[in-house]
Amino acid sequence: MISELASAVSAAASVAKLAHGALKLAKQAGLQQVLLDFNTQVIELQGKIMAASAKYEELAKIKDEAVKKLVAYENWNKKAARYLLTELAPGILVYAQKPDVKNTEPPHYLCPYCFEKLKRSILQRPSADSTNYVCHECKFQAHPSATPPHLHRIFKLFSVFSPEFFLI
Ligand SMILES: [Zn+2]
Repeated sequence: MISELASAVSAAASVAKLAHGALKLAKQAGLQQVLLDFNTQVIELQGKIMAASAKYEELAKIKDEAVKKLVAYENWNKKAARYLLTELAPGILVYAQKPDVKNTEPPHYLCPYCFEKLKRSILQRPSADSTNYVCHECKFQAHPSATPPHLHRIFKLFSVFSPEFFLI
């Protein structure tokens, strides 16, 4: 399409050149006005072809961008299908790996806000003994437990003792 338009523009330019040359010759023959009108129409045609060519370029660019977005959206859908909205603690929702999907990655949670923006952002604990999770992309924080996980394990080990035991 582009090469056809380019050749049409080139042909119109050649015709305009010929018409201009013929106009000079026609001055003696009395055909000046006819050739002048012809020359004007050729120039108008050349302008329309150039405008159509520019429009085609613009539409081709829009189409390329739409295809890129579609591919990115399809890739996101494949990734997103591996996760499920999960309640990490009462009222704290995150995305977790579906148990029935084979994963090569260690268990992790995704930020629910970034997920809605089609972005995969893994929630991280700031340190090994932290009780919260942080999204480094949007700064979302989840505090599922007031007790660090390693203390949960210790409390579980000593669950035979009453809670007052730990206050000593
Ligand atoms: Zn986030």
